[in-house]
Amino acid sequence: MFVLESNVRIRIVLIDKLIFVFDYLKPNLLELVTDPSPLLLKKSSEISKIDKETEQLISDMFFTMRKNNGVGLAAVQVGVLKRVIVMDIPNLEDMPHYFLKPCVMINASIRSYGKDFMSFDEGCLSFPGLSIHTHRPRKIVVDFLDHEGKKHREKIHGGILSICIQHEIDHTNGIIFTTKGDIVQE
Ligand SMILES: [Zn+2]
Repeated sequence: MFVLESNVRIRIVLIDKLIFVFDYLKPNLLELVTDPSPLLLKKSSEISKIDKETEQLISDMFFTMRKNNGVGLAAVQVGVLKRVIVMDIPNLEDMPHYFLKPCVMINASIRSYGKDFMSFDEGCLSFPGLSIHTHRPRKIVVDFLDHEGKKHREKIHGGILSICIQHEIDHTNGIIFTTKGDIVQE
């Protein structure tokens, strides 16, 4: 059972063209968890309610991702074993409307994969300087909740968005990207 606890009207707003946060919270810069932390291999647990603590976490994650020039961040990467992902994908490709702005994915899981694969050189804020040439399915269908607890099911047709969603959901399952391909650069 999923409960939205806060009575405050929730919005994600743009501050100083840099930081996306809930408009009544002050975001904190969190320390990134980096390899070889054992935390990165642990599975995160589902969020059962969106409370103030969750909203603060989301704000802090957006702030931390932006400050580190990332496009995606999972909560485990700031030391919190909860299934929360924030993303801000460059608007360069045909993407579902939801992903055109910085967005949150809670309790995300991949419902189905297409048969085609694609290759990509991925980076990760938890592995500074490392680039991995990965092979992942191109098309996916993903289920998740947004920051207000509303259910979404989105079809992703490929591109950076598909890579990023698969990479971040892997983090919530304790899977690191070094198991998904070969090192191209260190
Ligand atoms: Zn990563």
